[in-house]
Amino acid sequence: GDRGPEKEIPFAKPGSLTRVFAVASGKGGVGKSSVTVNLAAAMTAGGLKVGIVDADIYGHSVPRMLGTDERPTKVEDMIMPPVAHDIKVISVGMFKPPGNNHPVVWRGPMLDRALHQFLADVFWGDLDVLLMDLPPGTGDIAISVAQRMPTAEILVVTTPQQAAAEVAERAGSIAFQTHQQIAGVIENMAWLPCPHCDERIPVFGEGGGQTVADGLTRLLGTNVPLLGQIPLDLRLREGSDNGKPLVLTDPDSPAATELRQIANTL
Ligand code: ADP
Repeated sequence: GDRGPEKEIPFAKPGSLTRVFAVASGKGGVGKSSVTVNLAAAMTAGGLKVGIVDADIYGHSVPRMLGTDERPTKVEDMIMPPVAHDIKVISVGMFKPPGNNHPVVWRGPMLDRALHQFLADVFWGDLDVLLMDLPPGTGDIAISVAQRMPTAEILVVTTPQQAAAEVAERAGSIAFQTHQQIAGVIENMAWLPCPHCDERIPVFGEGGGQTVADGLTRLLGTNVPLLGQIPLDLRLREGSDNGKPLVLTDPDSPAATELRQIANTL
């Protein structure tokens, strides 16, 4: 039926002061959501007003990583997002019936409508930064984001493995078709600090982040920087499981220090 004119997305209006980052990866499990949440926490700790749209339909792990199981509430025609660690968050997972742990099977047009609702119907207030956790790969949602939020800058997360780097580069190359900017590449799980000496153990290989940055620089013809290399840290994983981002619980640990530095350079 006729839904009437669509509500405007505040972040897409000319002159919007909110910077929008879409966090992308080639495949799942590289730490895209952990990076999103910890960057958001670092920015919030630095005094910025930050929101997260968890658009990862397969993972939607952001609420758990922030320690909230709250659901959004409706006030008139707006959706009020839960707030955790001072971060406003909205997630596809919040719109599933309680107790339903089945995977969400959404087609492109439905995803696009959900994305529009997350951006236009949610009461975000005046945000300095909006981070969008995209599903892994080069799916429909990346195209929707590009169409609805052409000013969104892309952050590509990869592990150091060359095979992972190839798929990450493919995810980043969407920006070439959509004329979006790439803010940079983040290499996660870059190494494991040896518990007994100063050595860095390259558990997942080496060089993937730089490979992706170089490849995208060539493709786009503008410099795409490698923004940082985040080491493996058991406490980062524990923090994600417990809803307490490492950046807040142990800001001076090597992984959190690197995440805070990346947040500062953005
Ligand atoms: P993605 O969003 O790419 O699927 P996640 O952020 O869910 O990946 O991370 C996958 C798993 O790896 C999670 O259990 C997370 O806690 C863990 N993890 C991510 N980055 C690190 C890291 N630097 N050190 C240790 N564990 C990490």
